[in-house]
Amino acid sequence: MNDRRQELVENLEHSGYIHSSRVKDALLKVPREKFIPSDKLSYAYLDSPLPIGEGQTISAPHMVAIICEKLDLKEGMKVLEIGTGFGYNAAVVAEIVGVNGHVYSLERIESLAEKARENLKRTGYEDQVTVVVGDGSRGYPDEAPFDRIYATASAPKVPEPLKNQLITNGKLLSPVGTDHYFQELIFIRRISENDFETQKLGGVAFVPLIGKHGWPE
Ligand code: SAM
Repeated sequence: MNDRRQELVENLEHSGYIHSSRVKDALLKVPREKFIPSDKLSYAYLDSPLPIGEGQTISAPHMVAIICEKLDLKEGMKVLEIGTGFGYNAAVVAEIVGVNGHVYSLERIESLAEKARENLKRTGYEDQVTVVVGDGSRGYPDEAPFDRIYATASAPKVPEPLKNQLITNGKLLSPVGTDHYFQELIFIRRISENDFETQKLGGVAFVPLIGKHGWPE
């Protein structure tokens, strides 16, 4: 076990970001240092987002913990991630949903998707995560519906296709807001075919979701 990873995870637990052993065990297991650029290795276990090139970032560990806890992920679930980046969050989710579950992750920038595939392969998650290049604001109809959906890039409003690609009782997280440095994390539960329950979870800062149901390029 990497001591710095253990220390970070314990700090996240003491700060109240981690509540479940599922999330804790996954964060202890997935090597974040294998999902960041090699010149940033010394920052791997800071609780901070880091640049990964193309103007994009790997999310801070506390944000990954919040996402995994709030989605209430369970073994065997089919999950859709919008915004793969370098693949770290997808690997943590894959670790939680296990070999009977699956993560589909959409990334609009081809070079990042390639890097994510490489990172997922060298950490042993390639069979559990399918990385697709495309506009995730449209969701991923080929594999819908999903038990859980989360976006790691922020849109002016929750993209309708994501809501429509949830199963009944499915849960969705999507950062929403017009400010590029501060948005609100929106949590949605699909109650029935046409009914959705919405909750605001507080301020977050994500890169923009660029696409048909996000921001224009
Ligand atoms: N999930 C990542 C992680 O594990 O740290 C964080 C990724 S970063 C905060 C958000 C990503 O969303 C960027 O890589 C960006 O290129 C991607 N993105 C933005 N708009 C998108 C869209 N419409 N479809 C798919 N990916 C998009």
